[in-house]
Amino acid sequence: MNTPVQQTLPFEEPSLHLERLEHIGQASVEYKPTSAILTPATGFMDAYDYTLNPYSGCSFGCTYCYAAFFSRNREKRDNWGYWVNVKENAVSKLGSLKRSLDGKLIYMSSVTDPYQPIERKLEITRDLLNIIAERHKPKLVVQTRSPMVVRDCDLFRLIEDNGGRVQVNMTVTTDDEDIRRTFEPYCPSNSVRMRAIAEIQAAGIETCVTMTPLLLVKDAYAFSESLLKTDIKKFIAQPFHFQQGKFIANTREKAFAIMTEKLGCKPSLFRDEYMKHYNEVFKVLRESLPNLGEGKDGFAPPF
Ligand code: SF4
Repeated sequence: MNTPVQQTLPFEEPSLHLERLEHIGQASVEYKPTSAILTPATGFMDAYDYTLNPYSGCSFGCTYCYAAFFSRNREKRDNWGYWVNVKENAVSKLGSLKRSLDGKLIYMSSVTDPYQPIERKLEITRDLLNIIAERHKPKLVVQTRSPMVVRDCDLFRLIEDNGGRVQVNMTVTTDDEDIRRTFEPYCPSNSVRMRAIAEIQAAGIETCVTMTPLLLVKDAYAFSESLLKTDIKKFIAQPFHFQQGKFIANTREKAFAIMTEKLGCKPSLFRDEYMKHYNEVFKVLRESLPNLGEGKDGFAPPF
């Protein structure tokens, strides 16, 4: 029922806000302004100058995602994977930047994936890359697990042609789709990711496969062979972290159950057995893959 009070309310923001709430898959998408699109890089990424996150939240919802724990809001942490905020003014913020990014090391992205499913419709990441290509010559690392990144090969090329540098990193954490589905329920499959990064490599863009974290691997030899077939020359691995609580809501038990079952060990021995497995797989990978880095050193800027 329309009441006079509702008709004359002068303050329209709440209803505008509601109109701008969408759903893509399991994730709700909200549009919010950001105060700054480039953030000085700190912590694990402190060798870079800036991180660039076109979105906050992430609809890929990896169970082990550390980015979830940067959210101050408990509800947001518990619902990681079910929400994405679009930085609606990201493009105008970068477009109005006065300072030069020439030579600056930029990591895109540190707390989200720049190729969220909503990116296909909004093209915010693409617009940001366009601005970078036209106005700056940075050293850019693009980190993703989405095949949508292939769409932007033309802009990676353009950034390089205009004097900047680009490396695309694709995360691949296992060769086991059971494990992938448990830990990364809303992510593209491994084979899709491998095809995408091989395509980018074939397009002449620098690439790297990041096995971070390296989960369980069924067959380390076959896994390294499939990685080699992509023709990629750089790899980074890192073990899975075990800290209590570093699992997004309600996923820890299932994730541990499948890992202990596959390792054939008691839950109390999980940590030791996992590290034994990691070291064995890492040894095989190191013998066969060129340029395999590990941990934070592996993530050092490639340029
Ligand atoms: S894709 Fe990256 S940011 Fe998104 S949930 Fe997975 S680990 Fe976190």
